[in-house]
Amino acid sequence: VAEFDVQRYRADFPALQRQVHGKPLVYFDNANTAQKPLGVIEAVDGYYRRHNANVSRAVHTLGSEATALYEATRDKLRAFINAPSRDEVIFTRGTTESINLVAYSWALPRLQPGDEILLTQMEHHANIVPWQLVCERTGAKIKVAPISASGELLLDQLDALLTPHVKLLALTHVSNVLGTVNPIARITAMARARGIPVLVDGSQAAPHLRIDVQALGCDFYAITGHKMFGPTGTGMLWAKRAILDSMPPFMGGGEMIKQVTFDKTIFNELPYKFEAGTPNIAGVIGLGAAIDYINALGIETIRAVENDLLGYATEQLNTIPGMRIFGTAPGKAAVISFLIEGVHAHDLATILDTDGVAVRSGHHCAHPLMQFFGVAATARASLAFYNTRDEIDIFITALLRARNMLL
Ligand code: PMP
Repeated sequence: VAEFDVQRYRADFPALQRQVHGKPLVYFDNANTAQKPLGVIEAVDGYYRRHNANVSRAVHTLGSEATALYEATRDKLRAFINAPSRDEVIFTRGTTESINLVAYSWALPRLQPGDEILLTQMEHHANIVPWQLVCERTGAKIKVAPISASGELLLDQLDALLTPHVKLLALTHVSNVLGTVNPIARITAMARARGIPVLVDGSQAAPHLRIDVQALGCDFYAITGHKMFGPTGTGMLWAKRAILDSMPPFMGGGEMIKQVTFDKTIFNELPYKFEAGTPNIAGVIGLGAAIDYINALGIETIRAVENDLLGYATEQLNTIPGMRIFGTAPGKAAVISFLIEGVHAHDLATILDTDGVAVRSGHHCAHPLMQFFGVAATARASLAFYNTRDEIDIFITALLRARNMLL
């Protein structure tokens, strides 16, 4: 990606300009949360400075400005995921809330003893624990689709698990640990052939891939704003209108009603039925700015730049003695989990930090995946388009220094 002027884009991210322990920050923890461009920071700031008012309730000028800005993000999200209608785009605090919304409003009333929720070995706890909670209440069970040593779903085995007992298949689009990009369209076709709805956790896909929920053929799609350069506490659930219409509200309160008496409440129409209370207005407006940023840069450019970085980082890592990389699926996203033989991931991350290099160490909210690989933790370098080959060189030098200190 020769013509990509990364310095021009890095200038948009104030946090990337800072130093850590006297060294330039090398931020390789993007799968955890991404840094924010000025456009996002200014959108949040501008809302509080100029437009601060509650949404949908007030007829005064600030109220209508705030509402217009807030609702504009819904249109941007609709286009971003190619949803058929803005009414199907529900604002949430993030993927965790989106999945809980589906678990409690859609699954809980439907599940019975003997029913199954099919997950995969590579799910984040956010796509495991809500299902366990509703299974405990209903007597339904969780089944798990297996993966290969390279970190890819075994599609034949997944297909065999799609029995009539399965009421929902819930899986991640991109693994936050392995970087694996799951073939969602193929998988939804398999599930659809059996009449099984599919929920996709798009947390790690949204910052890296073009998302088209209609082409993917899923029934639910969840994303979180902070990993796609937007503010924390923002996100979205998309679901097909017929499904959303069939679901009771998740939370009750203001905004989600048409009429309330003490006997009965008539719920508001979509999407407001699922949006009780005063939302994270500034955050949602900031998320709109994040989508503008991604669109201006182009998701294809992002993918190409990250692919180049992934190839270079993988090649360099593999020169380090004792290196083990978890997740080697072709076409994977720029997430690299690894261990150096004899070195604890936390020690590694701690020493890297003294060189200004931020990587995550731990279980990455994916205990079952760690168990599959037989490790307690890994170190994880997750890249964004604003990272550079020079930063990868600094990272590799820091790793070699840490390895020498620790072995
Ligand atoms: N799913 C995946 C795959 C993730 O990586 C994350 C965040 N680490 C989540 C779900 C949860 O997202 P949030 O904490 O923003 O709700």
